[in-house]
Formats: sequence, structure tokens, C-alpha cells
Amino acid sequence: MTAEPAPNARSLRQRDAEVIAEIARLRFSPLSLVGGRGNRLIEEGGREILDLSASAGPAALGYGHPAIVEAVAQATSNMAGASLLLYPNDNAVSLAETLLAITPGEGGRKVWFGHSGSDANDCAVRVLQAATGRTRFISFIGSYHGNLSGSMGVSGHTAMTHTLPRPGLVLLPYPDPFRPRFPAEAVLDLLDYQFETTCPPDQVAALFVEPLMSDGGLIVPPPGFLKALAARCRRHGIKLVVDEVKVGLGRSGLLHCFEHEEVVPDMVVFGKGLGGGLPLSALVGPRDIMDHAPAFALQTTAGNPVATAAGRVVVETILRERLWEHAARVGQVFADGLRALADRHACIGEVRGRGLAVGIDLVADRATRAPVPVTTTAKVIYRGYELGAAFSYVGLKGNVLEFTPPLTLTEAEAREGVAIVDQALADVAAGRVSDAAVAPFMMW
Ligand code: PMP
Repeated sequence: MTAEPAPNARSLRQRDAEVIAEIARLRFSPLSLVGGRGNRLIEEGGREILDLSASAGPAALGYGHPAIVEAVAQATSNMAGASLLLYPNDNAVSLAETLLAITPGEGGRKVWFGHSGSDANDCAVRVLQAATGRTRFISFIGSYHGNLSGSMGVSGHTAMTHTLPRPGLVLLPYPDPFRPRFPAEAVLDLLDYQFETTCPPDQVAALFVEPLMSDGGLIVPPPGFLKALAARCRRHGIKLVVDEVKVGLGRSGLLHCFEHEEVVPDMVVFGKGLGGGLPLSALVGPRDIMDHAPAFALQTTAGNPVATAAGRVVVETILRERLWEHAARVGQVFADGLRALADRHACIGEVRGRGLAVGIDLVADRATRAPVPVTTTAKVIYRGYELGAAFSYVGLKGNVLEFTPPLTLTEAEAREGVAIVDQALADVAAGRVSDAAVAPFMMW
């Protein structure tokens, strides 16, 4: 009888390919992890990789942060129940108190906890429909709010356009200063026209907006745009929901990304970094909506004491260490370093972002700003991995390199990252990465 090979004789990649659903993966390189420390990921075999994506945002304080480790160990070893829906727990209540204290907003507000950006936006959709009696929503082409029916239903990312019908949704272009096909004034005019014609504002429950469009291409809206949206929402009694899942809690260089425009949203959605790597999201909104009982938004383990223990440490650390200022400073070093590379690499169309949310728009032609094919972006990411840094890409054409590292990234690490991106761009331009190397990672 031949013995089955021990499972560990095969690589983690091979085992993963056999048992993890393809639909749950978005992989840009052959990176297979066995651990993480500080701002570095540790790959099978022990090589350390500088994490310039922080696994796309959740590891806000990096990996193995001692205070998170301790708080989670404590919460696990003496667990105050596992379900906030049955019993209150101090970690959840304390974190909610802190979120309310730091999030501007009018009147009484409350917090709902979930596990992901998807469920928090989904909850917002359902609770808003139930509480306002209005059924329609407005959001933006390119926006990503999640992949549950409600949150997907208010998203405008092309990755999901064919998956669900979205009755009543009005999708507007998100003004992109680099490719100004639809300037802010035109978008606002279109919104007004929708209100005058096919979308009466009294049917609209809310407008969902990312204060900096992330998955749609790391697009910083032109100044005044969010404010103008907020004014229209207010005028028509439409709730403004700001999705801070990727760029909130210090990443943008201010505590909240919407503060760049002095906007006060009706509802704010937090996720990713909030849990420091544990599954945790939060929705902050007006009491009359958040207490609307028929909306029924229970999930057994949401707000459990372990995930919220991590959340408390994350938020308290960000506040105590004023990490948004650190993100602004290191983000500047990083973005300036990348901008300086434009002299050497004709494919750099623009480096943009806020704080430690930085993107490089790769172009095939600087004059027309035509995007590079997504294979080129993938090759840069692949080569970056080989050279020792992890990052990813976004944008409806897949041509924007995205960097959302831990907020704890140091200036030295930012410079190290710039050097790796520099080398990766040079190697791709010189044809040193083959199509075959990136074929397994092509999503589109
Ligand atoms: N909102 C935004 C702005 C996001 O970037 C994402 C994820 N990319 C989500 C919501 C969904 O979050 P999750 O993947 O945690 O469900």
C-alpha cells in the first residue's frame, strides 16, 4: 500500500489551490505566508517582505503588535460571552463610546458592529430603507462598498456589474482630476438633473460615497466635491453615508478622510484597519435610524469581546500616537519619492493619494493618459514581490498600483519601498518579467 504524502509535503500554495474557493481569492503574486512581524510579512522559507499593502489595509498597526496580542489573549482567555446580541461586553461598549467621541455628527448617535466592510455597508442599506421608507440609493461608478446583496447593490465597481440587478440605484461618475471626462460640476449637474427627472429626491434614502475612491482607482476627488454632495443631500433630506473602510482612521493623514472637506456625514462606515487584522467593522449613525427595530440586523459574533479588544487597541493607539500625523509625514516621503521616479519611468502618469493611501497611475502614453494593460501592472507587482515588497492594484482598468501600508510604516521603509518600485518598473520596462509569470494572477 502506498502511503498518502503528508499534507505538509506540498506547498501552502498547492494545498490552498485545492481547497480554497477561487471566488474568495484576489492574489497578485505567489506570496505564501507563514507569519508577519512589524511591517513585514514572512514567506514560506523565511524571507521577509515589506508590506506596502498591509494586506490591503486591515493590519493598520502592522503584524504582532504587542498591545493587540495582549488584549486579544486576555479577551480570549476570560471571554465575556461570545455574542454582543445576548450580553453587553465592555470591549464593545468602550469601543463604541470612543468611536462616537471621535466621529463628528449631530444629535444622538449609535454604533452597530459587524465583521467586514461588506456587512457594515449592507446594514446601512437595509436600516436606511427600513427607517426612512425610501427605497432608492445614489452612488458612484467605480465605488466598492462590499459584496453582500445590499452593499453590492450600492456598488459601482465593474467587477460586480454582472452579478446583481440593482433596482433604483443611480450611479454617477466619480470626478477624476487626472482624466477629467466628467468634471465635478458636470457630475453635480447630472445629479440635479436626475432629481428633476427620473429620480425624485424624496425616493432616495441615501447617497453612498468613498471620500477617496479606493478600489475604483485611488482617486482623490476635486476640492469641494464632497461638500457639494453633502449640501445636496441635506437640501433633499437624503442621508450622506461616507465609507471610510479603506481610507479612514488615520490613513489619509487626518483621523477621518472626510475631514479633508469639513463634511459631517450622517453615517460613517469603518472596517479593515479597525480590527487590526481581526474581523471587525462599525457603522455609526443617527439614533432614530440605528434604533429602528424592524431593521433587524443581528449577527451572532458581531461585536464579540475578542475582535473589539483588538479594535480598542487600534483606535486608542491611533489616537494616543496621533498616527494620522505620522501617516501624513511618511506618506509624503513615500509619495515624493515615487514622484521623483517619474523622470526615469515614462509609464508613471501620476502619483496621487492622501497620507498612506498612495497610487501610481500607470499610462501607456503620457499625452493621452491611456492606461497600461493590466498585464503590465501585474508584472510590476510580481517583480516587486521578487524584490521583496508586497503591493496590489486597483482601478477599473487595473492600471493603478495601490499602496496602503501599515500606518506604522517608517520613513526608512518608505524609502526602501520607493527603491523597490523603481527597480520593478525598470525591470518590467526592460522585459525581464514574462507574460507567463503573471498569467496565474490575472483577474481580468
Ligand atoms: N468599502 C470600501 C471602501 C472598501 O475598499 C472595501 C473593500 N475593498 C469594502 C467596503 C468591503 O470591505 P470587506 O472586504 O471587508 O467586506
